[in-house]
Amino acid sequence: MICVSLGRTRHKMMIVEHQSLAQRGAELVELRLDWLSHLPDMTRLLKERPTPVIVTCRRGQDKGLWKGGEEQRQTLLRAAIVSEVEYVDLEEDTAGRIPRYGKTKRIVSHHDFEETPRDLEAIHERLCKLDPDIIKIVTMAHTPADSIRMLQLVKESRVPTVGFCMGELGAFSRILCGKFGSPFTYATFNKDRQMAPGQLSFEDMKRIYRYDQIGPDTEIFGVLGDPVGHSMSPLIHNAAYKALGLNKVYVPFRVPRDQLKHTLEQFKWMDVKGYSVTIPHKEAVVSLVQNYDGPVEQIGAANTMYQDADQQWWASNSDYDAALQSLAQAGKDADGKAPTPEEFLQGKKVLVLGCGGVARAIGMGVMNCGGALTVTNRTHTRAVDLAKHLGCQQVTWENRGSQYADVLINCTSVGMHPGVNESPFAENWLREGMVVFDTIYNPEQTLFLKHAKLRGCKTVSGVEMFVRQAAVQFEKFTGQPAPLEIMQRKLRRVISAVTVKDEDEEVPRGASPESKP
Ligand code: NAP
Repeated sequence: MICVSLGRTRHKMMIVEHQSLAQRGAELVELRLDWLSHLPDMTRLLKERPTPVIVTCRRGQDKGLWKGGEEQRQTLLRAAIVSEVEYVDLEEDTAGRIPRYGKTKRIVSHHDFEETPRDLEAIHERLCKLDPDIIKIVTMAHTPADSIRMLQLVKESRVPTVGFCMGELGAFSRILCGKFGSPFTYATFNKDRQMAPGQLSFEDMKRIYRYDQIGPDTEIFGVLGDPVGHSMSPLIHNAAYKALGLNKVYVPFRVPRDQLKHTLEQFKWMDVKGYSVTIPHKEAVVSLVQNYDGPVEQIGAANTMYQDADQQWWASNSDYDAALQSLAQAGKDADGKAPTPEEFLQGKKVLVLGCGGVARAIGMGVMNCGGALTVTNRTHTRAVDLAKHLGCQQVTWENRGSQYADVLINCTSVGMHPGVNESPFAENWLREGMVVFDTIYNPEQTLFLKHAKLRGCKTVSGVEMFVRQAAVQFEKFTGQPAPLEIMQRKLRRVISAVTVKDEDEEVPRGASPESKP
């Protein structure tokens, strides 16, 4: 069950939003009395309540907004109990002063906004002695491992315990706590109304993560990265699980660069079945597994970790396969049949812009398929190093427009949301008939691709590649074919919601920073 926290300054808004939450399917709502600017009118708030409620009134010391006296606050909490609310939230030092009465269930809570203390079990033991029906223990995560300790506590507790960690490093524990026995989790009214760091909205918790379907047998997958909050991977992997009715959930794991190895050790406790891997961990994961699938060692980077039937970990690079398959789509014949990447790239002149992780994987693919590759990069030394590594040509960033290319691939982040009015290649350098591939997927129609279309080039978008790399991962994770169209539709819908404003804008011709001939 998801409990939605509701805090408004006016009674009227609190009541209206409570009704709206009930219509949206909320089953439990926390009424934060401390948010009200006038003395809470319990009868008005509770009389026709459309869902069961938790009544909570936090003091300033608990990061709440209550401005009245302590006696008055406790009187309100007692009044809520007399009104037979379903739950009342009592902080550790308050619980002993407010006795059990009637049917109201007691949530005895402990919050630590600074850290996840080492003595979590001792705190839990103390809360157990305060006549709780439910214990709520919420702390700030400074490492992903803090969240693991919290989930272990939830699992081992004899008293039903709502336990998760705050902060981005703890976000996954808010989603996964139900798997380990938490009676509910907390979410916000909408994305813009976070009441605690790392909180997810009711809509995301329900629709993306399908929190209510998560149980002890749900298999865990996720994306390892830092940052990871912007990742679209949870959207499309979870949409695919939902479409095929799989008891799996895919969550964002924010893991700082220096904590990867330790975190993966700790995550074994959760029995995570597979990971997508993104910046900054793509190179580091290669040394953490023994088995490689495809040219992982050659590329020196992986974006997928998965287990085989013997629970051996493998690393693979689905960017490599996905980029080559996406490029080959540009060579489709009249019947819509695409050539193989080798057939498409053999003998073609290819210019890759950028020398980061994606450029490395794609560059390797172009070379393996017989393309004549040139790389270029803003930081020239990286272009020289990559050219040496791949055995290809390089050109300075300033001279990139002087190269003729049959195929031009953007592997830089120039043009990515929100910098949508930038392009890595001037419009007047583009020639009719070129194949132009932008690996950026947000927005789908980058300025670079818009210019390419105006110039009569064939274009391939990063959405094609992103969905294909996720589909390859899905197949490794589940052993089943991926529902490609569903994943594609989901991604396009979300991206167009983000970029709809950009799409409406006119193409700023010649807006590139260096539009010299
Ligand atoms: P990365 O390793 O951080 O590399 C970034 C590259 O962009 C570097 O070559 C960097 O040049 C260059 N760059 C950054 N800002 C620039 C600027 N203002 N002007 C010129 N060059 C600039 O990133 P990555 O993982 O390779 O990702 C690169 C792109 O691929 C991103 O845009 C990402 O959206 C896209 N991507 C797409 C997919 C997909 O499935 N479609 C998957 C992953 C990534 P310096 O070396 O000079 O810093």
